[in-house]
Amino acid sequence: RAKEEGGNSYAFYTAEMTAAAFEHVFLENALRGALERDEFRLLYQPQIDLESGRLLGVEALLRWHHPEEGVIPPMRFIPIAEQTGLILEIGRWVLRCACAQARRWLDQGFEFDWVGVNVAGRQVHDREFVGDVERTLAETGLPASCLELEISENFVMRRADSGVEKLQTLHAKGVGIAIDDFGTGYSCLSHLKRLPISRLKLDQGFVRGIPDEQDDMAICDAVIAMSRALSLAVIAEGVETEDQAAFLSGKGCRVAQGFLFGRPMSPEAIERLLEAAG
Ligand code: C2E
Ligand code: MG
Ligand code: MG
Ligand code: MG
Repeated sequence: RAKEEGGNSYAFYTAEMTAAAFEHVFLENALRGALERDEFRLLYQPQIDLESGRLLGVEALLRWHHPEEGVIPPMRFIPIAEQTGLILEIGRWVLRCACAQARRWLDQGFEFDWVGVNVAGRQVHDREFVGDVERTLAETGLPASCLELEISENFVMRRADSGVEKLQTLHAKGVGIAIDDFGTGYSCLSHLKRLPISRLKLDQGFVRGIPDEQDDMAICDAVIAMSRALSLAVIAEGVETEDQAAFLSGKGCRVAQGFLFGRPMSPEAIERLLEAAG
């Protein structure tokens, strides 16, 4: 009987593996032509000043509209895009699209301080990276100070040395560098100080713990205090409730993003927000 059960769980396990492997191959193939078929779109999520309620910036978030599968979230395809190297092409498209959009908003007279663009570690390591960013800014006419690159904490900490000079070059030109999902990685504080960082993005996993999880709240508090001590800006991610916003603002966090203020939305929806504010 035990043998039978073992046999069954083995069969179940391989069936699951096969499904995962199948999905991977399916997505990888579909991803190859997705750019040419114009299947990507960017949504933008507002980033809000907690005191004034003003929209300070937006984060560009990628969506893949697959003709049969519908909208595929980034968590399902970004890892595949990284493994295959397709992220280089896709990342260039994201950067260009976000910078061009931000430039159009400026031309329309809307006021905001930055557009955040997520950048995969693999992109930073590409030899064309700095040139790509500089060229995109030049060609779209977006001021460098209006662009903020979001880099994950784990990338920065693990493979900093090869990428750090590139980030420094861009930072010196005025491009903002935000450390995404901060608190989930293994940063050592002395290392942080060495990096050309303008902002820490407090990971939403800790924000979610407010007001029930004491440990999460202590971590939120500590990250906010540390960013102040290091003169870095901090933004809280994933703020969904008034309680969370009040707690964070009470600890000295001035900027937040999350469903409480707005989900990732179309450029037109951002324009309506900016119009209402202006
Ligand atoms: P991220 O950069 O940390 O982005 C924040 C994620 O949290 C987004 O998920 C956003 O929709 C979601 N979010 C925002 N507010 C809330 C909230 O109040 N509650 C909850 N539960 N979630 C919230 P999304 O758009 O699915 O993106 C997931 C991740 O995929 C991003 O995490 C980022 O790491 C990656 N990603 C997205 N777009 C790009 C891109 O253009 N390039 C690269 N390399 N990665 C991207
Ligand atoms: Mg991000
Ligand atoms: Mg994040
Ligand atoms: Mg995240």
